[in-house]
Amino acid sequence: MVGRRAPGAAQLASPPARVGVGWARPSSAWRRGVWRRAARRQHRADPLEPALLRVIDLRGSDRDPAPLLPRAPVEVVAAARSAVRALVEDVAARGDQAVAEAARRFDGVDAPPSAWRATPAELAAAARTLDPGLRAALEDATGRVRAFHEAQRPAPVRFDARPGVRLLQRFEPLARAGVYVPGGRGAYPSSVVMNVVPAQAAGVGEVALATPPGPGGRGHPAVLGAAALLGVEEVWLLGGAQAVAALALGTATVPAVDSVTGPGNLYVSLAKQEVAQRVRSDGFAGPTEVCVLADARADPRQVACDLVAQAEHDPLAACLLVTDDPALWRAVEPLLAEEVVAAPHRDRVEKALTGQSAVVLCDDLAAMLRVATAYAPEHLELLVAGARELAGRVRSAGAVFVGEWTPVALGDYAAGTNHVLPTAGTARFAAGLSTLDFLRPVQVAEFDRDALVAAAPTVAALARAENLPAHGRAVQVRVDGAAPPRAAGAAHGSARVRVRDDLADLTPYGAPQLDVPVRLNTNETPYPVPRAVLDDLADAVRGLELHRYPDREATALRAALAGHAGHEPEGTWAANGSNELLQQLLMAYAGPGRCALVVEPSYAMHGLIARATGTRLRTVVQPREAPIAPEKAAAIVAGTGADLTFWCSPNNPTGEAATPELLAAVCEAAPGLVVVDEAYGEFGAAHAAALLGRFPNLVVTRTFSKAFRMAGLRLGYLLADPAVVEGLRLVRLPYHLSTLTQAVGLRALARAAELTDHIAAIRHERERLAAALAGLPGVRVLPSDANFLCFSPPGPPRQVWAALLDRGVLVRDVSGYPTLDRYLRVTVGTPAEDDAFLQALAEAVGELPSPAPDSTRQG
Ligand code: PMP
Repeated sequence: MVGRRAPGAAQLASPPARVGVGWARPSSAWRRGVWRRAARRQHRADPLEPALLRVIDLRGSDRDPAPLLPRAPVEVVAAARSAVRALVEDVAARGDQAVAEAARRFDGVDAPPSAWRATPAELAAAARTLDPGLRAALEDATGRVRAFHEAQRPAPVRFDARPGVRLLQRFEPLARAGVYVPGGRGAYPSSVVMNVVPAQAAGVGEVALATPPGPGGRGHPAVLGAAALLGVEEVWLLGGAQAVAALALGTATVPAVDSVTGPGNLYVSLAKQEVAQRVRSDGFAGPTEVCVLADARADPRQVACDLVAQAEHDPLAACLLVTDDPALWRAVEPLLAEEVVAAPHRDRVEKALTGQSAVVLCDDLAAMLRVATAYAPEHLELLVAGARELAGRVRSAGAVFVGEWTPVALGDYAAGTNHVLPTAGTARFAAGLSTLDFLRPVQVAEFDRDALVAAAPTVAALARAENLPAHGRAVQVRVDGAAPPRAAGAAHGSARVRVRDDLADLTPYGAPQLDVPVRLNTNETPYPVPRAVLDDLADAVRGLELHRYPDREATALRAALAGHAGHEPEGTWAANGSNELLQQLLMAYAGPGRCALVVEPSYAMHGLIARATGTRLRTVVQPREAPIAPEKAAAIVAGTGADLTFWCSPNNPTGEAATPELLAAVCEAAPGLVVVDEAYGEFGAAHAAALLGRFPNLVVTRTFSKAFRMAGLRLGYLLADPAVVEGLRLVRLPYHLSTLTQAVGLRALARAAELTDHIAAIRHERERLAAALAGLPGVRVLPSDANFLCFSPPGPPRQVWAALLDRGVLVRDVSGYPTLDRYLRVTVGTPAEDDAFLQALAEAVGELPSPAPDSTRQG
C-alpha cells in the first residue's frame, strides 16, 4: 500500500463542497473551470471547492442513493429503431440481396455474397502475420479465459427423491453460436476471445463470427488473426445490423445461428433486440461504467488510474469513486488531473470524468455497499479493508474486482473472467457472458405407474382450477386404464361448473382397484358367499316388484337387523353401506357451522365425509406408543366441544379396539353425538352396543361389507336412540335403499350363521400372519382386533408397497396417516394368499432401501 498525503484534522472536519444531493449534467463553463481548479489543487487543497469529479455527499443521509447516481442515459432514437426494424424485416424477406444492399449503403462495400466469407488462406495469413507480442498475449488470455469457462460447465442434476420418479436436468450446447466483433476505427481481438471461448467451452459445435469489412472490403487482421488462433473457420465480413440479421435469420449464403453475442454500436444492439425471438443474445450494451469502492487505505494513484482507464473507453463512460474518506478523494483529485492531462485519449477521458462521473461520500462501508448495490455497476472494484469478505456481500454488479492487485483493466483482458458484462444498471437482473449462455438445460421426467397415481390428484386439482380438463383426463386415463371419456358437461373445470371452494384441496377416495392375483388392500373377506346362500339370495330377488319404489322405511329389514343386533327397530337404521350412514349422521347432526372430531390415526372417510358435508373438522393425534386412557379421551372430547365425535373400534388402520370403559368415558364427556364405527366389530371386540341404553348420544355403525362377506351389497346399519333415527329421516334420500338391497339384506340375515362362519378362521389366520410378520427381520406388527394387520416393513413403505405390487400382491399404504409413516396395512386373506404375501414381502425387503416415502391417506 502506498502512503498518501493526509490532510489535517481541520480539513477533514469541514465538509467538502456539495454539488447538492442530486446530479445534473455539468455545464461546459463548469467543465472549463475544472482544469484550473484541479491544477490549483495540486498546490493547495481547498476542501470547499469542487474540482474534477463532482461530489455527491450522502453523509448523514439515509435517502435511496439510486436516483442521485450519474450514468449516461441509453438514448435510443426512435428513428434508429425503426430503421433497424425495417432492415431486419428486409433481410428476412429478401435475404442476401438485402444484406448486400445494406453493406453497400452502410459500409461502402460492394461485394457479392461469394466474397463475404473470409477464405481459409486469409485466416491463415492473418494468424501468421499477427504481431508476435499480440499473439502471445492472445494465447495467454485465451488459456486463462478457457480454463475458467470450462470450469463453469454445470454438472447434470439427477433427482430421484421419490420412488418411481426420475427427474434429470442435463445441459445441451447450442448447435451454432454467432459472434459479432466490431471493426471500424479500432480492433478488439479481446472481444473475439471473450465471446468465442465460452461458446467453445460449452461445447458449441460451430462458431460463426461476423466483423465489418475494413478498407479493401476485408476484415481487420487482428480480429481475423484472433479468430484463426481460436480455430474459428467461419468468419463473415459483414457489419452492423445487417450482419446480426443475416446470422440470426439465415440467408442463402449465411447459415442461421442459435445465438448472437458480442459488442457493437447502437444499430448492432438494436438489431439483437429485433431478432430476440429467433436467437439468444446478450444484453443491450450501454456505455461502460465502473464503481470504485475505496477507503482510507486505498492508494490514490491506483484509484485515479482505474477511473481514467474506464473513462478511456468512451466519453459516455461513468466512473464513480465511492468512499467514506473525504481525505482520499482530496488525494485522488490532483492525481486524476495529472493522469487526465497525460492520457492519450484525453478528450474522451475528460468528457467522461466531468460528465457522468462523481465522487460519492458516504458515512461508512455499509453505506458504500448500499451505493454500489443501488448503482448495480458493470464493474465494481473493491479497494477497501476486508475486500474479499465484502465481495461476498455484493448483490448486484456485472463483475467484482477484489483488492488492489485486481484492477478492472486486468478483467478486461486476462483475469479469466469475461468482459462482456451488463451495463446501465441491468446487473440487478442480468449477468456477464459465461459458458451458461451457450448451454440449454434440458429437463427430463420419467414416472412409473405408482408415481403417476400419487401425483394424479395434484394434476387433477390444478387442471380443474385452470379449466383445462383434458389435462386431468390425460392423467386419469392412465390411472384408471382406458376408461371412456366423461360427458363434456361433467368436467369439473368448465367456467360454470365450479366445485365448492372448501373441497378444492380434497382428492376423490381412491383405494387402487387393480386386477392382481392377491388383493389385500380393502379389508373384504377373502371367502366368497357360499354357493347355497347365493342361490338363496337369487331366490329372494326373483319376483320382486321392481316397477314400484321400495319401502321407504325398510321396515322389514330394519326389524330383522334389530333382531340380529338385539336392539329396538325404531332405533335401528339402514343405508347403502356404513359410509352412507356416516354421511347421513353428519348431514343431520353436523354440517355447516358445526364441528366433528376425529382422533387420528383413524378411518380417513370420517374426515372426508365430514368435509364433504361442510362440517368443520377437528383432529387430535393420538401418539401410537401410548394407548389412550379413558380420562384423557374424555378430556379431549369435552375440550373440543364437537357436535359429533367419531370413534373407530376396532380402529382402521391400526386394528386397536377401544375398551368399554373408554367408550363410556367418551360418551359421558361428549357434548354431542358419539359415533362408534364398528365396521370390524365381529372380528374382535364389539362393546359399544352394550352402552346404548346408558347413552342416548351414542350411535353404533356396522356393515355387511366385512364379516358378512357382502361388500358388494352396500348395506350398513346403525343402532341408536330412536330420536337419532328420527333426525336421519330428514336427510335421507327418498327410497335410498333399493328393493334389491332390502330383499337380499333380509335374506342374508336369515343366513347370518353361514355367512359369518369364516370369522373364526380369519381370526386364527390373523394370529398366524401376525406371528409370521413379526418373525421377519426388521418388521413390526401392531396388535389387531380386526381382519387386517398394520405393520412396518424394514424399508420405505411406499417402495415396499410397490415391490409387493410388482409381485402381484396389493396391500394398503397407510404411511400418510399421522404416526404411521413407516406402516403398511394388509388384510387377512386365505392362508394361500397370506403365504403369497409373506413370500413377496420377504423378497421385497431384500430390495432397494432408499429415500423418502410417498403415500396416500385414504382408508
Ligand atoms: N368404517 C370403517 C372403519 C371402514 O374401514 C369402512 C370401509 N373400509 C367403512 C366404515 C365403510 O364401509 P361400508 O360403507 O362398506 O359399510
